[in-house]
Amino acid sequence: MQTMKALVKKERAPGLWLDEVPVPQVGEFDVLIRVLRASICGTDVHIFDWDNWAQRIIPTPMVIGHEFVGVIQSVGSHVHDFHPGMIVTGEGHVVCGRCRNCLAGRRHLCNNTSGIGVNRPGAFAELVVVPETNVWAADSNIPLEVLSCFDPLGNAVHTALSFDVLGEDVLITGAGPIGLMAIAIAKHAGARHVVITDINAYRLKLAEQLGATVACDPRTRTLQQVMKDLGMKEGFDVGLEMSGNGAALNDMLGVMCHGGKLALLGIQSKETAIDWDLVVFNGLTIKGIYGREMYETWYKMTSMLQSGLDITPVITHRFPFLEFEEAFALMKSGQSGKVVLHWSDL
Ligand code: NAD
Ligand code: ZN
Repeated sequence: MQTMKALVKKERAPGLWLDEVPVPQVGEFDVLIRVLRASICGTDVHIFDWDNWAQRIIPTPMVIGHEFVGVIQSVGSHVHDFHPGMIVTGEGHVVCGRCRNCLAGRRHLCNNTSGIGVNRPGAFAELVVVPETNVWAADSNIPLEVLSCFDPLGNAVHTALSFDVLGEDVLITGAGPIGLMAIAIAKHAGARHVVITDINAYRLKLAEQLGATVACDPRTRTLQQVMKDLGMKEGFDVGLEMSGNGAALNDMLGVMCHGGKLALLGIQSKETAIDWDLVVFNGLTIKGIYGREMYETWYKMTSMLQSGLDITPVITHRFPFLEFEEAFALMKSGQSGKVVLHWSDL
């Protein structure tokens, strides 16, 4: 049996194990990809830490990781559109194809998804198998490390483009990797002011590099003050909640203009309460965001990168995969943007 190196959740306990595992089987409709770069997502940190969510969801052993770019090594007998040598990335949500939403072409709303690196073997490995329906042929002019971030970039694009931002004032709460990418996207899409909040000074600095009009810590500079400084009178038109923090969501609700639109990507705790009066009396629209659209978001991220969108400042650190412990520790410290693992050269 052929084997490969992979980062595996081997035991039902905190940590990750660098292990030698069997190369996954390539089915008739599958594509075998040699991983070049893979980036670490918050989800991977949850799995590493073995929190309640991970304990409930992750079967062990499991090769984790779902943000990647690679080169096709081989394809199944029924795959005709992909060929060895192509640079590809992939959508991490494998959908059922048969539910109402899938049949209607709304695959991002499938009610029966399975996650690469969550429910099926992932991409923190020398090789990963992905169904051809989930493979995205990449523009090889886009840097590999940017391509390795297409999954979170897709979250950012899907959220930021959920509502029209042209000429609008946009508030983003949370300058994690996805919030940071959303700054550049909102600017690219024509927003007037893009204000972002975080409580992490390192990330607020990155936010400035990505073009935020104002990047502030809400504990020292309130959003009301920011609005005043910018000469804004009626509140933000579009809000992108990307912190998963209840206080941040409440801050946002308090500064939206009447008729404002909110897209919520951050995962709130069950205890988060909001002032519903603000929603009802101010006529707010709230949209929950999960994943990214297959494959409209993928098309848009490619075309925006081809026409000047630059998210490279978000990628702050690179590690060889053997140094995964250091890479995860850095992610957990909050003193990073996106952290990319190097798996192999082209
Ligand atoms: P992250 O955890 O790296 O970033 C969150 C940021 O919010 C951090 O920088 C943190 O300092 C900041 N924050 C904390 N409290 C704050 C406050 N009171 N005000 C402002 N900022 C505050 O996460 P990420 O990878 O950028 O992802 C963003 C969010 O989206 C997370 O909640 C993540 O779980 C979620 N997510 C959702 C989906 C989806 O499909 N819905 C997909 C990916 C990520
Ligand atoms: Zn489905």
